[in-house]
Amino acid sequence: MSKPLTDQEKRKQISVRGLAGVENVADLKTNFNRHLHFTLVKDRNVATKRDYYFALAHTVRDHLVGRWIRTQQHYYEKDPKRVYYLSLEFYMGRTLQNTMVNLALENACDEATYQLGLDMEELQDMEEDAGLGNGGLGRLAACFLDSMATLGLAAYGYGIRYEFGIFNQKVVNGWQVEEADDWLRYGNPWEKARPEYMRPVHFYGRVEHNPDGVKWVDTQVILALPYDTPVPGYRNNIVNTMRLWSAKAPCEFHLKDFNVGGYIQAVLDKNLAENISRVLYPNDNFFEGKELRLKQEYFVVAATLQDIIRRFKASKFGSTEVVRMDLTTLPDKVAIQLNDTHPALAIPELMRILIDDEKLTWDTAWDITVRTCAYTNHTVLPEALERWPVDLFQNLLPRHLEIIYEVNRRHLERISALYPGDHDRLRRMSLVEEGGQKKINMAHLCIVGSHAVNGVAQIHSDIIKDTVFKDFYDVDPQKFQNKTNGITPRRWLVMCNPGLAEVIAERIGEDYIRDLSQLKSLLKFVDDDAFIRDIANVKQENKLKFAVHLEEQFKVKINPNSMFDVQVKRIHEYKRQLLNCLHIITLYNRIKKEPNKAWTPRTIMIGGKAAPGYHTAKMIIKLITAIGEVVNNDSVVGDRLKVIFLENYRVTLAEKVIPAADLSEQISTAGTEASGTGNMKFMLNGALTIGTMDGANVEMAEEAGEENLFIFGMRVKDVEALDKKGYDALEYYNRIPELKQAVDQISGGFFSPGEPDQFKDISLSHTVTVFADYEDYIQCQEKVSALYKNTKEWTKMVIHNIAGCGKFSSDRTIGQYAREIWGMEPIHDDDCYGNSLRNHHFIFIFFVCVCGCVCVCVFRLKF
Ligand SMILES: *Cc1c(COP(=O)(O)O)cnc(C)c1O
Repeated sequence: MSKPLTDQEKRKQISVRGLAGVENVADLKTNFNRHLHFTLVKDRNVATKRDYYFALAHTVRDHLVGRWIRTQQHYYEKDPKRVYYLSLEFYMGRTLQNTMVNLALENACDEATYQLGLDMEELQDMEEDAGLGNGGLGRLAACFLDSMATLGLAAYGYGIRYEFGIFNQKVVNGWQVEEADDWLRYGNPWEKARPEYMRPVHFYGRVEHNPDGVKWVDTQVILALPYDTPVPGYRNNIVNTMRLWSAKAPCEFHLKDFNVGGYIQAVLDKNLAENISRVLYPNDNFFEGKELRLKQEYFVVAATLQDIIRRFKASKFGSTEVVRMDLTTLPDKVAIQLNDTHPALAIPELMRILIDDEKLTWDTAWDITVRTCAYTNHTVLPEALERWPVDLFQNLLPRHLEIIYEVNRRHLERISALYPGDHDRLRRMSLVEEGGQKKINMAHLCIVGSHAVNGVAQIHSDIIKDTVFKDFYDVDPQKFQNKTNGITPRRWLVMCNPGLAEVIAERIGEDYIRDLSQLKSLLKFVDDDAFIRDIANVKQENKLKFAVHLEEQFKVKINPNSMFDVQVKRIHEYKRQLLNCLHIITLYNRIKKEPNKAWTPRTIMIGGKAAPGYHTAKMIIKLITAIGEVVNNDSVVGDRLKVIFLENYRVTLAEKVIPAADLSEQISTAGTEASGTGNMKFMLNGALTIGTMDGANVEMAEEAGEENLFIFGMRVKDVEALDKKGYDALEYYNRIPELKQAVDQISGGFFSPGEPDQFKDISLSHTVTVFADYEDYIQCQEKVSALYKNTKEWTKMVIHNIAGCGKFSSDRTIGQYAREIWGMEPIHDDDCYGNSLRNHHFIFIFFVCVCGCVCVCVFRLKF
């Protein structure tokens, strides 16, 4: 509940939540009422909470419109280099509060809604998440959009407007049940359809080779209808665009085919064509070679490239008489970033356009393509790498297959010239995998077709150079780079944890929100008792608030004085939720054995979605809930150990639980988690990390000091050595009594008395090295429990972590992409377009200089 703020509280909140001036508030109220009346066509007698949410959303949206138009106009006038971020996922979450934060409207809206007798937080809770992503990869794309706008880059996010995003997860009797995410049911106030920019996308057909060139003919056409969503930068008046495509059948779809059943059937069949943008594939780090997915990947790429080339040709630069309209300058004006291999078809599609439509030679087209495209790798897990069967390709995209074959022919020619007679190397490096079903290796296509290839954390970038892509590194070392992931401090601190943002701002001002490296100056306060107390108090408030939320939403009571030990992320074997389960069972057994010892109370929360077809992941959810049933109802244990499965983990739930967490579980097998970004969100929100030397955890330890994290377990080299030696789960099982006891309880039905064999299969998992890290993990958890008893020492360690967080802002990440891959300069705040749009004024003084020429002197004034 938001209560009226005292004047002092208001003044305190002004810096991070924006000013609530009287005029501002009055205008907001007027516009809110106007939208309720004219947009929603309701009065206050019949308006629902959702109507009020929509009225507020429209009121806030109005503040974006002028800035959005002016930013796009400005890009047209200045014609800077554009960057296109192509992604099959944009995990945006909610938009209302983010817009208010970036436009500094939050306090004023809070006051306005309060004066109208409404609770703004309740209205915000009516907004559906835009869940157009699975996990880290999709959320990264969303954080990047925020940073690109904040850094003033002329950037566009391009993706698919899925009618159904990631499913909603229900847990029924401990089992995951999926529900369709009908997020557009009540309409989406943040998007604007642009039917005038609809574009055709071709599928199937055949290829004709004529003397005057190649033609792809007899294709089936689906239309791509763009929907634009504004992406505001942080308080800089810049508003970029995320353009998502929706599939539309053309009016004449099937209408000429009298054999398919005539007019009625033809109209009904339009639904089939529109299935392309129906639903997000719910796999995280897993490749499922379905035709509809390949259609989605081509659909977004084909529509987007038409847009890119149209905008390039329509630009002042591209269309001036002086500079002849010439696609060879495309790489100077356009950068295309591929978020994993999912949009890899951009490479053959750009080649097709340049050769077949623009009539350029292969060599010219290839030079343009490689200099324009760059590829980000997100995983080394073999089951996640895209390898599309050639048969599927041949049928759906015959011209693209031809182009890929020719790319491969030239690529292998080069390799065999470098390594004569090394046939095994040619086989390893081919874009076409032979043997059984022929497949196209999309990662190989991306590496060959890009000028830059990057991993997403230092350790991951090293691994791809040394292992999966070593052959490619050997021939093109200059292509390989690292870009450690980051998160936007706007959503993941200012928005979700205003209390902490304010405590920091009181000490170091609020510039750190744009320049997170400034957090290091908090080290000055690490021994300041008042600061330590403030940090601890904010955490306690967040824990209480989350406890209330859990009780209201799910009727579960938790002890807010216990340690909140949280693992939230997709359920996956490599992320080792099972290792967490073994710790829970061990704690339980220890409490039962010595019930009178002074155990550090813990509330262990685990949340995450399992891909619907991933049986083991679903069993892990069932196991967690089954353990909870036993542990939570044991009166000997009481409130010293509770196990909660957090249902339907998504961006909005992350924003609620992460600020309340004391301990962040980042326990993947070393070498498997490319980066992780959840780890960074917890660190920024004042949780301590228990983790392996994997992904970005390594750099977090570097930045905060290894002594300020709880690092345990095998390093990558140990895992490799173990893999070589052969992994024998039984060796650990027989040697470690507490491990044996826990495993026996799982497989013996202790947690599933009604069905003793239920967990037989998962208990002795040989696929991941869970047992090998068990002992070290348990010992490390003992250190965690011991330190937690000392609030002051714990909080000092938290401060070291917050102070070491600067590197993990996505602003830093995007700055590096811009300079090191895109060839763009992020604009300094002082001369950003945004400020010039608003409060910079130019004074021109013309004069005749001594040499007789007319000179002009320009002054810029800021007011
Ligand atoms: C940040 C985030 C992730 C990624 O978490 P990891 O722990 O890095 O896998 C997944 N889902 C949501 C909703 C997120 O906000």
